[in-house]
Amino acid sequence: MSKLEVQPAAEADTRPPSHLFYLSSLRRPLVDHAEGIYFWTKDGRRFIDGSSGPMVANIGHSNRNVLDAMKRQMDKTTFAYRLHFENEPAEELARALAGKLPQGMDRIFFVSGGSEATESCIKLARQWAVATGQPKRWKVITRFPSYHGGTLGSLSVTGDDALAETFTPMMKVMPTVPAPTAWRDRDNLSMEQRGIRYADMLEEKILAEGPESVLAFIMEPIGGAATAALVAPDSYYPRIREICDRYGILLIHDEVMSGAGRTGKFLGGDHWNCRPDIVALSKGLGSGYAPLGALAAPMRLVEPLLASGGFQHGHTYAGNPLACAAGLAVLGEMDRLDLIANAAAMGDVLMAELKGLQKRFPFIADVRGKGLLTGAEMVADPETLKPIDPASKATQRLLDHAYARGLIIYGRKVKGGVDGDNFMVAPPMIITAEQIGEMISIIGDSLEALAVELDLPVEG
Ligand code: PLP
Repeated sequence: MSKLEVQPAAEADTRPPSHLFYLSSLRRPLVDHAEGIYFWTKDGRRFIDGSSGPMVANIGHSNRNVLDAMKRQMDKTTFAYRLHFENEPAEELARALAGKLPQGMDRIFFVSGGSEATESCIKLARQWAVATGQPKRWKVITRFPSYHGGTLGSLSVTGDDALAETFTPMMKVMPTVPAPTAWRDRDNLSMEQRGIRYADMLEEKILAEGPESVLAFIMEPIGGAATAALVAPDSYYPRIREICDRYGILLIHDEVMSGAGRTGKFLGGDHWNCRPDIVALSKGLGSGYAPLGALAAPMRLVEPLLASGGFQHGHTYAGNPLACAAGLAVLGEMDRLDLIANAAAMGDVLMAELKGLQKRFPFIADVRGKGLLTGAEMVADPETLKPIDPASKATQRLLDHAYARGLIIYGRKVKGGVDGDNFMVAPPMIITAEQIGEMISIIGDSLEALAVELDLPVEG
């Protein structure tokens, strides 16, 4: 284990061995409490939550009004099975959510997380196709790289070789088209022409697969974990809609990460007035207060399903009153504190700061994103985009340098994906310009340390 992989504990670790296992057996500090954009550990260290966990804590930690709403609900009932009772928080949250979504996206199905949300979208699409006499449609085209979840259904539409390869024999692997990494292309086309070209790859794929067999296309309107806040050229979005319409294919927007206000609009797709057929939400909807997710669809898709026996899908905890009370209070706080506007304004500040870092550290080949969902891509040579040697694990080193300095940022390198090393900065939507300055200073120091270690170019 390199010394960079572990943040040294303040004192010798006297904790008993852990029974838990996740990605590795690496021990992490024990968290004590959180408030706003900060975490404190048992041993007294403070961390800035510069990525809202994995882009979850949109409204910040320990919001009093959300906690109070949850406590009030806890005193009434924490669980009432949705097939036995309706509950007020679920009804009200569905209404509030429908009010924030594009016109007509007013049928809501609750789940408890992002993978459940995307998987529910796929199953809804399939049942709609069967109910409307199109049983040959089953293929869900997805982008590579992409991340749509870890359950076998959501993994089957996730474009990530390392995550999928072990499980491939157990899944129907779905067709892919390249994610629109237009900034990387070295051709004579304008960005808008490239946007069209990437969208047209979907049409080519549909034709190659046989249009009658294609059910849906799933995409993150603003990329998440796999592409670090990748934004397509403006021309991409309407063209995708046109192509889906041409072949009667449903357009699923996975807004699990980009939704719930983080990008400066309620949905990432709202930046282009997108009209998806089905939307998946989670993460920021519960904002870390409760496991919560949702699928939204228009009545025209839901009605045929209900008429043919109902949606044959669901999870035990779906729509439970406690999680929904949390979600309702989260949306309430978003409105009361005008957090979506703050995400847009602070997103501009953050983007300007990241561009400043790019000047200082030319190995940052691209910075991108919308609002407070931002990402940067690091390469060995910004001219040729030659990647940093993967063996040096640049992303992990950078995250570790930041962590050792009390800042959490996010990053993952996707096997078989874009070559660059990505990192993401996505703080809670309550962040101030001063706090952004504090984060940027730590990121700058961490990039400096990385540049020295890996002999990467630094300006001046
Ligand atoms: N979809 C997207 C875009 C995500 O970013 C994630 C998680 O990172 C998921 C789906 C899966 O969500 P969960 O981890 O809550 O199952």
